[in-house]
Amino acid sequence: MNQKLKLAIQKSGRLHEGSVSLLRECGIDISNGVNKLKAEANNFPIEIYFFRDDDIPQYVEDAVADLGIVGENVVYEACKQVEVVEELGFGHCRLSIATPKGEPYEGPASLEGKKIATSYPVLLRNFLDKHKVNSEIHEISGSVEIAPGIGLADAICDLVSSGSTLFMNGLQEAETILRSRAVLIRNRSIAPDKSALLDKLIFRINAVKKARNNKYILLNAPNENLKQIISLLPGMKSPTVLPLAEPGWSSVHSVVNENEFWEIIEKLKSNGAEGILVVSIEKMIV
Ligand code: ATP
Ligand code: ZN
Repeated sequence: MNQKLKLAIQKSGRLHEGSVSLLRECGIDISNGVNKLKAEANNFPIEIYFFRDDDIPQYVEDAVADLGIVGENVVYEACKQVEVVEELGFGHCRLSIATPKGEPYEGPASLEGKKIATSYPVLLRNFLDKHKVNSEIHEISGSVEIAPGIGLADAICDLVSSGSTLFMNGLQEAETILRSRAVLIRNRSIAPDKSALLDKLIFRINAVKKARNNKYILLNAPNENLKQIISLLPGMKSPTVLPLAEPGWSSVHSVVNENEFWEIIEKLKSNGAEGILVVSIEKMIV
């Protein structure tokens, strides 16, 4: 099999670093080629293409690339015939409608008759139609947030993560119309031998995602509370328990989910756990 997968990622911008890091953690090293149009991994049959993010759905539909990494906002705005395969755990943002600070907003009806500037006319149109609101959509490609300040629009619909850009431009977030993350997209009909490579890649991505969401935890537990401590740490199957040299104590090793982490630590401490070590996991295969 000498087929290679072709994966398109953002050339530069907010998703570039996250895409390259994910590939690196999947054992795909392209460190020598990120400044070119195309890079080849030396340890996985894959070629990486660097494009503007907006062009990626079209290239994947046209099979210029088999796969792409882009924000869901770009995928749903582009309306191309591609399949979303996997959410990738980075590039979180919201597509939101923002209005001038202090102006009352009482739901979508407040947008009736207003002029809204956006780079996302398709997603905004869907939202307005769903709420049966008539607004004028003014499509602009960059610096949408300045539109109300210069009298070009009454409101905007744009990507937000912290909200600081809105704040600096005298705007307030009124309504979120889409929550977006980076996703892996694929061409609808890729050849069977490439499909096998894609399965391999997805397997690795899942192992990396699981590892990022979990921590390895080691602690010393007094034997009289071992039962309660074990019940707090279900682990992948069940925790490892080893006797310590000091009588009456055991060493417990397990895996905990990032989201439950702090809560579990509190409970472990209240059950007498000591010497708690928390370690990052590189890959996790269950
Ligand atoms: P390109 O030159 O590739 O067209 P761009 O300027 O359109 O780049 P970026 O600003 O780099 O794009 O954003 C790329 C993607 O990053 C967005 O489409 C979105 O999915 C994601 N993203 C995450 N947080 C934000 C944010 N605060 N603002 C904008 N995009 C964000
Ligand atoms: Zn773009």
